[in-house]
Amino acid sequence: MDTSLHLPTIMVVHALITTISTLVTIYMWKRSRCGPVMPLLVAAGVAACLTMGLHAGRHSLPLFLSSCIGLGLGVLAVGLYWQAVMAFEGERVSLPKAAAGMVAWMMLWFTPLFQQSMEVKTSVLGILVATYCLLAAGKMFARAKKEPLPSRHLAAITNAVRGIVWLTSVPLCIFVAPAYAADGSPAPWFAYVVLANSMMIVLSLVALLMLSKERDELRYRVASERDPLTNLANRRTFVSGASRILLQEEGASLLLLDIDHFKLVNDTHGHAAGDQVLVAFSRTIEQRLPKGWLFARIGGEEFACLMPRTNAQTAVALADNLRRAVAEIVIASHPGLKVTVSIGVSEASERGTALDPLLASADSALYRAKADGRNCVRLFEPAALLADTAGKLALIANEPPPKANRRRLRSA
Ligand code: GH3
Ligand code: MG
Ligand code: MG
Repeated sequence: MDTSLHLPTIMVVHALITTISTLVTIYMWKRSRCGPVMPLLVAAGVAACLTMGLHAGRHSLPLFLSSCIGLGLGVLAVGLYWQAVMAFEGERVSLPKAAAGMVAWMMLWFTPLFQQSMEVKTSVLGILVATYCLLAAGKMFARAKKEPLPSRHLAAITNAVRGIVWLTSVPLCIFVAPAYAADGSPAPWFAYVVLANSMMIVLSLVALLMLSKERDELRYRVASERDPLTNLANRRTFVSGASRILLQEEGASLLLLDIDHFKLVNDTHGHAAGDQVLVAFSRTIEQRLPKGWLFARIGGEEFACLMPRTNAQTAVALADNLRRAVAEIVIASHPGLKVTVSIGVSEASERGTALDPLLASADSALYRAKADGRNCVRLFEPAALLADTAGKLALIANEPPPKANRRRLRSA
């Protein structure tokens, strides 16, 4: 059975694929945010299209144009793709590095060895293209831990396979047959290399575009789940996470933490110093909590922490440690600034406790902590709530209602 492929047909398909891919990248470039990735991909596509055009006209064009310039542009295209990957990974773009392979190709092209030997030409071309592909693959693999996007391995593997395909052309042209014989007829293996190269170009381009989309989606999701100043979970994330934990765990305790006299911090030291306090406060607490405990900024200077499998006594002890750690916060730019926190604690002693009443209980305990002079921890006690309520009712009965100065916590 004849398993050889018809190289001219594959070349036409390859040219069409390259042109369509380039048009797609131009379209995506117009719709994407600014940045060097898309322009570099477009430049790579244009260089690849020129290569195809010059290579297609190799029978009528001067050899210098079709081989030296044409294939040199092909090497440049892969170099530009590598730099697009570098830009995508946040590295500095280097056009000289992208063009170095092309320059090497053009300089070697004029050496007698290069002129005489098709094996040397094919080997050098294979090594240059493979080097760029493997550099791109290596960069993508290296970032997999830091940014584990779903398509990252696909993108890295397609580049690695493309590099390996080009590397195999070296022994093939030396030990089997040169890519083109003296009469211009192609070696059978060469058609397979070109076919595999075309497939890998499409796959690596699609994978890079998918990666870019996945990164955008991840950023939007993080933005919707996190507080931008402190990078803690926001209120919405806290409510959904805490409700889930309360359904799963046998018991849990909730802390509500409210920085004391924070308005005064802003008024005395400025809003920027207030922001610094919020960040320092967040890090201080976060560092002292075990992994898996939910800690969130649920309001301006109000925070919540859900402690799974923690009873009230342990929660109060932990909260007091946190309170003492907060009292030791030093803001380098404002050495005189003192930070303290009041903490209310409530306990969910059984699985399935609803979050709303738990928040209300912790809020009531926090109210007591504030009333008791701040910088302290109070555990919710129903009796205290009754006393509070009675006190407030008495107050309302005797006086006009006071202007509410506390925002009640609502989990919705
Ligand atoms: P208390 O001890 O009773 O909790 O008093 P407080 O001053 O901490 O509470 P109050 O609710 O009166 O003031 C909270 C202040 O927090 C008011 C608001 O301007 C400030 N704030 C809210 N969000 C931010 C923020 O993101 N940055 C800064 N710097 N200030 C904020
Ligand atoms: Mg408050
Ligand atoms: Mg406060």
